[in-house]
Amino acid sequence: MSDVCQLCGSDRDVEAVALAPRDETVALCAVCRDQLSGEAALDANHLRCLNESAWSQEPAVQVAAWRLLKKLAAEGETWAQDLLDMLYLEPEVLEWAEAGDEEEEELTLKDAHGNILRNGDTVILVKDLDVKGAGFTAKRGTQVKNIRITDDGRHFEGKVNGTSIYIVAEYTKKA
Ligand SMILES: [Zn+2]
Repeated sequence: MSDVCQLCGSDRDVEAVALAPRDETVALCAVCRDQLSGEAALDANHLRCLNESAWSQEPAVQVAAWRLLKKLAAEGETWAQDLLDMLYLEPEVLEWAEAGDEEEEELTLKDAHGNILRNGDTVILVKDLDVKGAGFTAKRGTQVKNIRITDDGRHFEGKVNGTSIYIVAEYTKKA
């Protein structure tokens, strides 16, 4: 294992970090490590080191660099997006790099057919639902527009008969 950070070359507080879902590791300094995990805000100046390290031949380094570049690009750092566009990752390495995002996907809601639901989607109820407290039944076949995903992993919020209600995602299908 390297005793310097494989992204920036710093030798301060270097630890091996496993890159889920694999258990292969990359050696990272505290600064790079905390930015990769999201514990620290991105420091675009520090991460200019990726201009060099992203070209590493080592898959674990490529994955760590790729994930950090994605975060930077999402914050509007155009140089990071340019670098991502230039990089070539072997297909299985790219899959590994992207797998970090899929853990978030598991938190998203799925309809009766397993389709992922997102904010703003339109769905159709696949069964009659008693709306507790509102005193009506939302009928099967009712269309619910512009849903809002909740973070409880089970419900979304949507309007039926002009009333905002919480609906179990698996009792609906994407329109
Ligand atoms: Zn570092």
